[in-house]
Amino acid sequence: MANNKLRKSDAEQNQILSSLRQEHQERQAGYRERALKLFPWVCARCTREFEGKKVRELTVHHIDHNHDNNPPDGSNWELLCLYCHDHEHTRGVQEDRLDGATDIDLKTDALAHSPFAGLAAHFKQTKK
Ligand SMILES: [Zn+2]
Ligand SMILES: [Zn+2]
Repeated sequence: MANNKLRKSDAEQNQILSSLRQEHQERQAGYRERALKLFPWVCARCTREFEGKKVRELTVHHIDHNHDNNPPDGSNWELLCLYCHDHEHTRGVQEDRLDGATDIDLKTDALAHSPFAGLAAHFKQTKK
C-alpha cells in the first residue's frame, strides 16, 4: 500500500515536472522566436553574429531576470550567445539561481544536438 502510494506520487511528480518543463520550453520558444524577429542576430555582449543553424546558440536574456515579463516590444529582452549569457548570470549567482537553472537547461539542450547527431550517424555506420 505505502509502496504503491509512493510510486504513484513519484510518477505524478515526474509528470508534473515534465509538463512544467514542456510549458517552459514552449514559452521559451514563443518569446525566443519573437525576439529573433525583433533583433538582429548578434550577441549584445561580444557582438558575434549568428546565422543558419548557429542561431540556436543565441539565447534570450531577460534584462530584469523575470522570464514572465515579455513585453511585445522586446524591451525586456536581450539576445546573448550561450557564453555571454552564462557570464551574465554567474555575476549574480545567489539571486538568480532559478533563472540560471533554466539557462543551464537551454545550454545542455543546445550543446546536446551536435554530439547526439554525430552519435546517430556513427551508429548507422557501424550497423552496416
Ligand atoms: Zn556573446
Ligand atoms: Zn538570462
